[in-house]
Amino acid sequence: MRAEIVAVGSELLLGDIADTNSPWLTSRLAEIGVDVHRHTVVGDNPERLAAALSEAAERADVVVVGGGLGPTQDDLTRFVVADLAGVALERHQGLVDHLEERFAHMGRPMPERNLVQCDLPVGARVLWPAGTAAGFTVTLREGTEIWCLPGPPWELHELAHRDLLPALAEAAGQGATISRLVRTAGIGESDVADRLGDLVADLEDEHGRANPSVAFLASGGEVRVRITAKAITREEAVARSQPVVDAVVDRLGRAVAGIDDEGPEHQVARLLVAGGHTLAVAESLTGGRVGERLVAVPGASSWFRGGLLCYATDLKATLGGVDRDLLAARGPVDDEVAAALARGAAQRCAADVGLGLVGVAGPEPQGDAEVGTVIAAVWDGRAEPATERQRRRQVPARTRVEIQRMASATALDLLRRVVAGDLAPAR
Ligand code: AMP
Ligand code: MG
Repeated sequence: MRAEIVAVGSELLLGDIADTNSPWLTSRLAEIGVDVHRHTVVGDNPERLAAALSEAAERADVVVVGGGLGPTQDDLTRFVVADLAGVALERHQGLVDHLEERFAHMGRPMPERNLVQCDLPVGARVLWPAGTAAGFTVTLREGTEIWCLPGPPWELHELAHRDLLPALAEAAGQGATISRLVRTAGIGESDVADRLGDLVADLEDEHGRANPSVAFLASGGEVRVRITAKAITREEAVARSQPVVDAVVDRLGRAVAGIDDEGPEHQVARLLVAGGHTLAVAESLTGGRVGERLVAVPGASSWFRGGLLCYATDLKATLGGVDRDLLAARGPVDDEVAAALARGAAQRCAADVGLGLVGVAGPEPQGDAEVGTVIAAVWDGRAEPATERQRRRQVPARTRVEIQRMASATALDLLRRVVAGDLAPAR
């Protein structure tokens, strides 16, 4: 089964937002054996939208359209699709009732304009709204099915999971592609590739094709190994990928920070929960980025106490508990200051483990410390006597945000290794 995806919205062409719906849909469709042959992005213009849809419909068995189902004048998908199908729009009273209830529940009057969201092409199958916009499907004369889904990603995901994917999985029959991720930290891309070199070579047949296949992706201080497997069913594809995932994990050992959606923060969470221990952080250059990643883990309240945001140098003393003389003598970007912050975070937040993070995000160097200097420290008070661990890195000096992301990754990797009782370096 061949599919094409059309993302609708001028904001996508103006560069205001990135099209995240099409890649997401493509991965989900691959998992059920539907090949996506083309992505099109088109603005809120009726002629160009009609042309994009009819061209896609000529080539593909299924066209999935994301966006243009809102209540405003620029939302044109329903009108253009009705035109293509050669039918009028009809109002669905069930949808009107649903919208009225929804607005009543929020205590707001329903704008008249929203009623257009209840108008669907005659003969369309209704995809019940997750938010305010219903989706729908119509079948064109040549037999192509057009699935129209609302643009907001969470609504599109809901309708896709509930309606689109089950229907297409049944129609597509057999064949599935899945991707697994092994995430590493504290190790470079070439090192990862070297350690997996023969494993990757062994997977390839004489034409250089591999199933599963392995690819490397580096970003934000993490190197990820993607393992992609194809099989008749999703379960078989997962089973096919598993020995390779296991082999990759085995080869990379301590450098593995997580699998699939899990990162170092999930490992830290599991280990702290298992030991009944708690964590606090004191961040400088990352301004809360490490805390943000920690609280993204479900159930974080059972092990994450909180943190201190000690950006200015004097706050490292008053808030973080760093000795003033030490700060005056060494400056804020210093191993001992990071260690004192880690201890200060744990003590002031009454946690068993503390993380301190200082560095230079640029654009100017700070004293002797170059842009991209990152120093993370962990104070581990889970057992007597407490121990301390530091790591200093010079990350490639690029943008502030990139340096901050790499600093967070460096700190989380050190934390994960300390909490796991693994203090050996990555190699
Ligand atoms: P619409 O259905 O066109 O009213 O879309 C509503 C909102 O969904 C847009 O303003 C975007 O914020 C979001 N959106 C639409 N299309 C996409 C897309 N392809 N990727 C990510 N977000 C999108
Ligand atoms: Mg739009």
